[in-house]
This record gives sequence, structure tokens and C-alpha cells, in this order.
Amino acid sequence: MRKRLTTREYADGILAGQRGILSKAITLVESTLPADRDLAEEVLSLTLRHAGKSIRLGLTGVPGVGKSTFIDAFGTWLTQNGEKVAVLAVDPSSQLSRGSILGDKTRMERLSRDENAFIRPSPAGGSLGGVTRTTRETIQLCEAFGFGVILVETVGVGQSEIAVHSMVDFFMLLMLPGAGDELQGIKKGIMEMADAILINKADGPNLEKARLARAQYANAVRLFPARPGGWRPKVAVCSALEETGMQDAWEMVRDFREMHGKDGFASLRSAQNLEWLHETIRWMLEDAFFGNSHMKNGLLEMETKVREGKLPPTVAARKLVSSYFQGKS
Ligand code: GDP
Repeated sequence: MRKRLTTREYADGILAGQRGILSKAITLVESTLPADRDLAEEVLSLTLRHAGKSIRLGLTGVPGVGKSTFIDAFGTWLTQNGEKVAVLAVDPSSQLSRGSILGDKTRMERLSRDENAFIRPSPAGGSLGGVTRTTRETIQLCEAFGFGVILVETVGVGQSEIAVHSMVDFFMLLMLPGAGDELQGIKKGIMEMADAILINKADGPNLEKARLARAQYANAVRLFPARPGGWRPKVAVCSALEETGMQDAWEMVRDFREMHGKDGFASLRSAQNLEWLHETIRWMLEDAFFGNSHMKNGLLEMETKVREGKLPPTVAARKLVSSYFQGKS
């Protein structure tokens, strides 16, 4: 049987920079067992005041755009420049593909051996809600540990990007040269969320195409609404393979941080925390309702009535929810 650490041991280990304890604490926050959840919440409460000091970066782009190559190059560039970097992944699709796409250990090979970096794939088999909850908590633990840059990577082009946008300070979108094709793969809403667009693979025969794409995207982002604080999305080119453009990418992040100042992030993050609170209440209520054994029969009965067209879904839902809360009072 695994030896259970106490809350104090977890918290002290994290604050003392023990990577093994950090990994264990993340496993704990990923657990759905009630006893683990209780312990995880205590560890989070104890470490909260040591968190919050990083810059949180989101990174997305279609599969094949070069996210892992970029993170390997950019992360290494950052650690060479004195930063400590944690890379987290949000990959709810792993539930379907039965194995995390982002969890592949051979990705980011150099960074995974870097003692100033820490890579953690998303838990396999989670729902988007579950994965984003644990990612938020993992961010907090990594910050308390002392990572100054948290990179959150997402795969896919949809819900998970929106979720990640709500937990980072700066959102980067990797694109390929050849703007026309790319625009079709990335939803416009995601482009509009980007604080920076990096056109990757700007090397060899693609270099000219990449520069052209930069001009096109720079035009496109001018039409997007300005961010709170007046930030205008920036566009740059890079080559993750040849490791060019890393400094430009980091300078964008630094400009953004400077423009916001410390207070800017504080208000962004407190708004995100409120959103997180409300989201968590919704998940908890949902879990409590659907996990309540007393509701099972009533739910089956209402499902039949709705399927057979005997009751409008809204009426059925209201009856069930009322009976749930009556049972509680
Ligand atoms: P991901 O699916 O977005 O994580 O993409 P990968 O990082 O796995 O890269 C997909 C392919 O593109 C790999 O074969 C990489 O070697 C290649 N690649 C990534 N970055 C670059 C780049 O900057 N230039 C070129 N030419 N190829 C790249």
C-alpha cells in the first residue's frame, strides 16, 4: 500500500522544491476519490499564498503545426535564460483516443531532461471539465513550487482552447505559413482570443511564405477588438526546428507583462477565479444530482416520458430538480 503523505508533508515538500512530492501532489489533485479530494483541497489551501507569481502562457495550434517542437525549443531557450518552466497539457481527447496524444514522453525530449523544466501531460480519460479543474490546480502547485513560466498546451481547435484561455494570462496561437489554408483549420473565435500569433516553420523554402503570412495576419488582427488594457495582438514568425524567433516570442510576452503591470494580472486573475468558482459550483451540482442514487428511478421515469413525447423536457427537468432539492431540505 502506498504510504500516504500528510497535508504538511505535501505542502512542505512542494515549497522546498522536491519534484517527487510535486508529482505526487498533482496525482492527488487528479484523483476523484473523495478522501484524496479532501486532502488535495487542504494542500491547495496551504500552498495558495505561495502561488500566483508566474506568467501563465497558453499555446495552441492544429496537430502538426509544431507545438511540441516549439515547446521543446522555447522552453529550453527560457531555461537557458534563467527561467524555470512547467509545461502542462489539456487533452480531453485522450478519453476517446485511449491514450494521451500530448502525453507521449518522446515529445519535448530535450526539455524533459532539463532540470529547470517540468512536463506533465493531462490526466488520461478525463472530461474537459475534469481536466481543466486539475490543470488549474496543477498550475497553482507548480507556481508554489517556484516555476516562473507555466505553459499550458492544448490540442484541437474548440472547447479546450476556450477553457485554457480562461486560465492563462497570455494566449499564443501557432500557425503554418500559407494563411489561406490555415484559416480554415482554426476557428475564427480562437484566432480572436490570441494575444500573439506565431507563424512556425519559417525556414527553408517556407521562409518567404511565412513572411507573407505574417503581413496577412497582421492585417487581420487589426480588425479584432482590442484586449482589456489596450493590448493589440502581435504577429511574428519562428522556426521551432531551427530555433529562430524564440527571443521575439518571449519579448512579446514581456511587453504584455510590462503593459499590464502587476495589477493588470491581478484583476485578470481575480476575474478568472470568479469564473472558476461558478464553474465549479455548476460541476459539483451536476455531479451531486447525477450521482444521487435516490434520483435514479425518477430520472429513468422522466427520460421515458420525454422520449415518448408525453412531457416537455423542461417540465420533466423542473420536476426532477424540485424533487432533488426537496430531498435535501
Ligand atoms: P504538434 O502536433 O503541433 O505537436 O507538432 P510537432 O511538434 O509534432 O511537429 C510536427 C512536424 O513538424 C514534425 O515532423 C516536426 O519536425 C515538424 N516541425 C515542427 N516545427 C518545425 C519548424 O519550425 N520547421 C520545420 N520545417 N518543421 C517543423
